[in-house]
Amino acid sequence: MNSEMKEKIFVILTVDFEKDACFWHHPSKKFDYGGIMIGTHKLVEILSTFGVKCTWFVEMNKDYPQSDMLFLFPYVVKSLAKRQDEIGAHIHWSKPNQLRRKYEYPTTNTSMLVHNSYYIEKSIKYCKEKLGEVGIKPVSFRSGAFFCVPWLPLILQRHGFIADSSSFQGYTTKRWPQSKILSQINRYKTLKPSKQPFFCDGKYCYKQGNLKIVEFPVNYSIDSLLRYEFLRRKIMLEVRYRQKPCFLTLYFHVYNITDSDSGPDELTKIDYYKIRKLSILLERLSKIDYLEFITLQEARQIFVDLYQNK
Ligand SMILES: [Zn+2]
Repeated sequence: MNSEMKEKIFVILTVDFEKDACFWHHPSKKFDYGGIMIGTHKLVEILSTFGVKCTWFVEMNKDYPQSDMLFLFPYVVKSLAKRQDEIGAHIHWSKPNQLRRKYEYPTTNTSMLVHNSYYIEKSIKYCKEKLGEVGIKPVSFRSGAFFCVPWLPLILQRHGFIADSSSFQGYTTKRWPQSKILSQINRYKTLKPSKQPFFCDGKYCYKQGNLKIVEFPVNYSIDSLLRYEFLRRKIMLEVRYRQKPCFLTLYFHVYNITDSDSGPDELTKIDYYKIRKLSILLERLSKIDYLEFITLQEARQIFVDLYQNK
């Protein structure tokens, strides 16, 4: 570990690679892949322009091919893997419900989820196996909707994962659907100084513990950074004045750069206003000489080295 590392700000840009959600999801179709089909190429172009490395969390699902991006878009995932980027796994916790004939989170109550660890383990195994078949060895993970799944870190470790980013500023959604009050708390936590990575607890990803897995709490939603001036100010202040070394974990979706009024699928249009804002932000950050964009896997190694040299 060279001393230069101790004077750096490490930025980890992560993208959840999944079907369109919220108001980007076109109402005419049950599933809309406009972000992936139209947004991916554009986002890759911008990342290349500013030399930004990215960690792609590919959504996968062993029960629902509609929620399995590796199954639906294998060539896109393989092309992303060829970049200097990292491919991680992403699961929105769902399970067939025969009665309601639709998919849902395993339960709405996390205390019940404990009894679902077999299902969780099978899902993680599935991701590893399928990515392995196309030559990708995933070591980083993110839980869908920052959903707190008890024992997830321990299960991840058993399957060779070393980094997790399933919490937001030290917070996870414990219930689904997320309550309005919890969203407000979530927003408020963005204002706190960026929570730094830590060795993870076996049961809860937001707690410190003694696993080899390092938890990187998400500090900023890029979509919020593009929307709110005060958040852009906050990140620039942190970059300038925060004690180094420091890690900043950012998250984004491919559909965030598309026009939410367009779609579905190949009819989706790029939101050029967002593209402009994103370019300005990435340009500003990439010009700072002590700031480095790295993948989650790289960040985990640096964190471990720094920790050991303390
Ligand atoms: Zn997701």
